[in-house]
Amino acid sequence: MTTAKAPQPDETLDNYIRRLRNGMKLSQQQVATAAGIHLQSLGKLERGKTNRLNQKTKKGLAVALSIPEEYLDAVCSGLPVEEVHKKQFCPACWIPGTPPDPAWTLPRAKHCLFCGRQLSDDCHNCHAPIASFAHKFCPNCGTAYADKGGGLAG
Ligand SMILES: [Zn+2]
Ligand SMILES: [Zn+2]
Repeated sequence: MTTAKAPQPDETLDNYIRRLRNGMKLSQQQVATAAGIHLQSLGKLERGKTNRLNQKTKKGLAVALSIPEEYLDAVCSGLPVEEVHKKQFCPACWIPGTPPDPAWTLPRAKHCLFCGRQLSDDCHNCHAPIASFAHKFCPNCGTAYADKGGGLAG
């Protein structure tokens, strides 16, 4: 079963990390060292004290636990793994900075089911792929990703 390492649908970050770590028979110290993070930080994560991973922690944990970073994204965002792979949104309906409607990120979705507009997965100005749904503007050129909230109303 290669999928055993993927997060379960309702798994929380703390359970997920603990499950993988126990599955690999590693101590907290071993994982923290391999991930390049503090033992306390890992302890906090495993106690469910935080559900946020910065880039460095995410990268480190992905390496230490031998999983793709997308798995950690999926757990943190509460979305199934298949859905985080496709970063698509409707430029008309998406409210920047919020998670996308799950219907847009389905691998086969091409058009918005609310307004029929073609879904987008990149910046319409420079075509850099969208890096994160937490971003409202393209980090590459500063263009607003969506029609809403971009200061372009009216
Ligand atoms: Zn739409
Ligand atoms: Zn751009």
